[in-house]
Amino acid sequence: NVRVRFAPSPTGGLHLGGVRTVLFNYLFARQHQGKFILRIEDTDQTRYVAGAEEYILDCLKWCGFQPDEGPVNGGPYGPYRQSERKALYRQYAEQLVESGNAYYAFDTPADLEQKRKEIANFQYGYFYRDQMRNSLTLSKEEVKKLIDSGVPHVIRIKMPEDETVSFIDMIRGEVSFQTSQSDDKVLLKADGMPTYHLAVVVDDYLMKITHAFRGEEWLPSAPVHLLLWKYLGWEDEMPRWAHLPLILKPDGNGKLSKRDGARLGFPVYAMNWTDPNTGELTPGFREMGFLPESFINMLAMLGWNDGTDQELFGLEELIQKFSLDRVNKSGAKFDYEKAKWFNTEWIKKIDSNVLKGLVAEQLNNAGIEVADTAKLETVIELVKDRCHLLPDFVAQTSYFFKAPETYDLAAVKPKWTEAKEQFFKAFSDYLLANPSLTSHDLEENFKAMAQERGFKIGDVMLPYRIMLVGGKFGPAVFDITKLIGEEEAVARINKALE
Ligand code: GLU
Repeated sequence: NVRVRFAPSPTGGLHLGGVRTVLFNYLFARQHQGKFILRIEDTDQTRYVAGAEEYILDCLKWCGFQPDEGPVNGGPYGPYRQSERKALYRQYAEQLVESGNAYYAFDTPADLEQKRKEIANFQYGYFYRDQMRNSLTLSKEEVKKLIDSGVPHVIRIKMPEDETVSFIDMIRGEVSFQTSQSDDKVLLKADGMPTYHLAVVVDDYLMKITHAFRGEEWLPSAPVHLLLWKYLGWEDEMPRWAHLPLILKPDGNGKLSKRDGARLGFPVYAMNWTDPNTGELTPGFREMGFLPESFINMLAMLGWNDGTDQELFGLEELIQKFSLDRVNKSGAKFDYEKAKWFNTEWIKKIDSNVLKGLVAEQLNNAGIEVADTAKLETVIELVKDRCHLLPDFVAQTSYFFKAPETYDLAAVKPKWTEAKEQFFKAFSDYLLANPSLTSHDLEENFKAMAQERGFKIGDVMLPYRIMLVGGKFGPAVFDITKLIGEEEAVARINKALE
């Protein structure tokens, strides 16, 4: 029974790397008819950001990743928020002390600070732990006295001096570590909260997790987790890990960083709190006008492909085709232009009613009322090939519902003549007198009238477009004329001629 978890810490927004981690976990779970579990790792009170959990839930919902078990819908292995499981972790830490694989440490923050000053590259571990105040250096009686009198203390893992620890990563194959490289990580903090290392191992065990995809940044923690599992004497197999390669900047250098300030660091949703990493209110991919379909598709392709040239995949198809052996071992490059390309394609692909709702929302936000939804549908079909992000629809469709407020007439003004004005007056009369012509016939007649008066078509066609839409853009002018109606077209001509 495959059980896969996503275990975010509510410390800020979800960024590209985080959502890709969810995606791969989710695809793997669905593909194996397994369970997708959401666990909130909120044991670090100092990094807690209020609202971050709801934010994460909203992002998952927007992407379409519904957890089978989690803090909202519960499940047989709850609670799914680590702060609510606090009481549970201590016994495991104490079991480790008992078996000699962990110890109490009484060093104060000032002690540690002092050591770091004295010793360059100080690590609380094999080389220095005998210089510190802990249950390995103090007598049994003293330790008992300190604990009984409530002196703050932590429990640390006792990393072995020189062992090789290895495991098989689902993406990288065998990965090995020397234990001497790692310090004695704190497992239980002075406030009784477990650290990430203890909580993640205990919860993966208790929640019967079988597989976990997580970011490459967790690879150095793997030996600690492996040893904890072994020292706790659990018979069950450890979850099988897949450490996902980093998402890189397009030039391929450097880790994806929020500080880059560029779009690759943007979260999924706009965050209504200040990003603790950048100190800024950050817009998200959703607000920039990405569709969840394209966002997911783009993320799936950051590190995976099906071995063919196919690039467009919906969630269902990804569930069917996803395969571990096609996940790249090296970092994937994020390219904003490519992300926009995915969105352009998905705008053409998604259900027209869904798109209509999204465009109506964009227009409403821009203060444009759309009463006629049948017209909106026609308009969307006319312009959607030109729209890359949802807000593009505002510029591309608003003039169908509202006369432009400004005109880019400057471009044609130098060649403006009395004769042209006369032409537009005549064409206006013609429009009003012939409301039932097709756009094709209107175009033919417009051209004939222009030629009769000695104009080149472009000399009057472009100004007409600008009168209708405000600038040099939009679909066929006579389609626009028919959609807004003859009277409105004439009103716009008059307004522009004022
Ligand atoms: N809570 C960790 C995080 O914030 C989870 C790491 C893991 O998946 O083991 O990413």
